[in-house]
Amino acid sequence: MAVSRYIIISFQLNNSKITTLKGIGEKTGKLFESLGVETIDDLIGFYPVRFIPYENVVSIEEVKDGENVAVGATLSSSPHTIRAGKLKITEATIEDYSGKLRCVWYNSPFIGQSLSRDEDYVFVGKIVNKKNHTALEHPIVYKKDEYEKLAGKLKPIYHLTKGLSQKTVSKAVSTALVNYEFEPDNMPAEIKERYGLIDFDRAVREMHLAENMKDVLEARRRIVFEEFFEFLYSIRRLKNDTGESKSAWIVDYGNTYDDIVAALPFELTEDQAKAAKDMLADMASGRIMNRLIQGDVGSGKTIVALIALAAVVQNGYQGVLMAPTEVLARQHVQTFERFFEMTDIKPRICMLTGSMSAKEKRYAYESISSGNADIIIGTHALIQDGVEFRNLALVITDEQHRFGVRQREALSSKGKSPHIAVMSATPIPRTLAVILYGDLDISNIYSKPAGRIPVKNAVIGAKDRGKAYRTILNEIESGHQAYIICPMVEETETTDAENVIDYSGKIKAILPQNIVVQFLHGRMIQSEKDRIMSEFVNGEIDILVSTTVIEVGVDVPNATVMMIENAERFGLAALHQLRGRVGRGEDQSYCIFVRTSDNETAKKRLEVVGGSNDGFYIAQEDLKLRGPGEILGQAQSGQMRFGVGDIYGDSDILREAYECCEFLNSPSNTEKYKGYLDELWAKTKTALELMMI
Ligand code: ADP
Ligand code: MG
Repeated sequence: MAVSRYIIISFQLNNSKITTLKGIGEKTGKLFESLGVETIDDLIGFYPVRFIPYENVVSIEEVKDGENVAVGATLSSSPHTIRAGKLKITEATIEDYSGKLRCVWYNSPFIGQSLSRDEDYVFVGKIVNKKNHTALEHPIVYKKDEYEKLAGKLKPIYHLTKGLSQKTVSKAVSTALVNYEFEPDNMPAEIKERYGLIDFDRAVREMHLAENMKDVLEARRRIVFEEFFEFLYSIRRLKNDTGESKSAWIVDYGNTYDDIVAALPFELTEDQAKAAKDMLADMASGRIMNRLIQGDVGSGKTIVALIALAAVVQNGYQGVLMAPTEVLARQHVQTFERFFEMTDIKPRICMLTGSMSAKEKRYAYESISSGNADIIIGTHALIQDGVEFRNLALVITDEQHRFGVRQREALSSKGKSPHIAVMSATPIPRTLAVILYGDLDISNIYSKPAGRIPVKNAVIGAKDRGKAYRTILNEIESGHQAYIICPMVEETETTDAENVIDYSGKIKAILPQNIVVQFLHGRMIQSEKDRIMSEFVNGEIDILVSTTVIEVGVDVPNATVMMIENAERFGLAALHQLRGRVGRGEDQSYCIFVRTSDNETAKKRLEVVGGSNDGFYIAQEDLKLRGPGEILGQAQSGQMRFGVGDIYGDSDILREAYECCEFLNSPSNTEKYKGYLDELWAKTKTALELMMI
């Protein structure tokens, strides 16, 4: 999935390396670097993923199974260690006035040596009941007076890498914050009051150091509000600055639409027709088109793009279709050639991608600048470097979510500003789409082409994998192909999630010899990925074991079954996109979600995708299942990403930020807060330019 990250709030106040901090040497510096933290600014913006409270101390009679507790007690027996196979189990009994409790530690045989029977402790851990024996599992032991200082406070939990501890990160952040000089917070007091926002510098400090949940939530609210507001304000400002401009490209579409529709082997759906006509009307209107075509996977967006591009070509202009990957670009070229074959319109189609040889590129550039190419299909390489267009009137980006200012400018500087359309399969609920894409006109394609057989879904547990493999084998026997999706590329120490490399080896060993299995992942070089993808398209591979690199756009109608391993690890939007790779032909397709977690939310979420094939419905349910539970959660959804804010979980704040934009947009407020707003725009414009490139 092409992910667009949009973080305006990057600090630019102290970009010294973090190794200049006391206590951070080269080695620790390297570990931080692997987490993307190189400078003091980075460290300040490296917020914890969540906070956990230090529990209040309770007595033994109060504890219940399954709870996380802090028990004040003394040792009533010295710890002793037994071996069970590879495992070393250390046990001790603790007691207070109300009773006794067993404690268990795994593979920590030295715990006993640090404990004394004469000391008061607090044991912090989880109460677990196994085979009717209750025990406090793997407690962390604090001296009583040490714990009393912490009780009721919060402990920040940072995202870590091996070798780096929570303590090291906390300490580094605290040290950095001491001398960090924030810019003055220029947000008008009226706005802060209206939306209940605390000062920005305080918010950042509290994001790391808050002592209670109320402070965390207040801090987070300010940061998220800032992210959303700056984003919404800048796209609005962008629209005001460029929005209604006159277009130099008046596209008279004549009979183009009717001719193409008459030649197609299928009827357009009502929504496809509407979307195509919206684009044609925009381009004929005399203003520059800026349109988002939102359509679920498989809703048939490509043909809509083709119609718009055909109209442009019929007027003697050039048009561009940009795809996020080379695989997809190549596929679009084939699709266009196939469809134009059926019509009387014969545009000269030129492909341009980053991996073409210098010679091929030079040839392409020449065709483009001389006007020998009518439709240019390619990746982002297309608008970089030395591409000169003769008369570029339309740019369509496929499976991309926004079109950065820099991209617009890159194109405008090559001629007169073209019409722009963005085609997206992100199922963002309508209410949010209107806010997030406020600078664009929107066409929605809700309906699916007639005659599509809905994908049959199953959510299974790990023990039912055998059945899933039988389904896959059945499909392969009847001439079809399969995808198996794994979350990881290769084995790592930090997770036991499936990886494509080991997985393909594993299934090769258990499936019949004649089944051709191949893996694919994003770290392979482009030409290798392209080769594998075209082998899959040509039916030379039976099972493609892949990461989410295949998620975007590819159309292999002969693939009728997809199995997704560790399905709970993917976002609902991503699962829906993945599933969109099957069910594209005339045969019954299947999608098997393998759930390897018993977590309740995981279950519910998978029930949602397993129970519906409707992307818009799934997005709505996703929204309901979120809510403010995740504190600083990195649970990012869809492709619209912010630093901390989540468009789903924080949709309330998103609406308020939108309201704030409206409020500031009134003529009197625009005047009153001109200084603040201009400064904001100066800052955010750069960030907007960096977006999505
Ligand atoms: P997406 O919206 O995911 O990009 P595509 O444009 O790749 O979808 O279309 C998916 C498949 O549906 C293609 O094989 C396409 O030829 C076919 N298709 C598109 N529109 C229709 C239609 N109106 N009726 C039948 N098939 C269609
Ligand atoms: Mg597509």
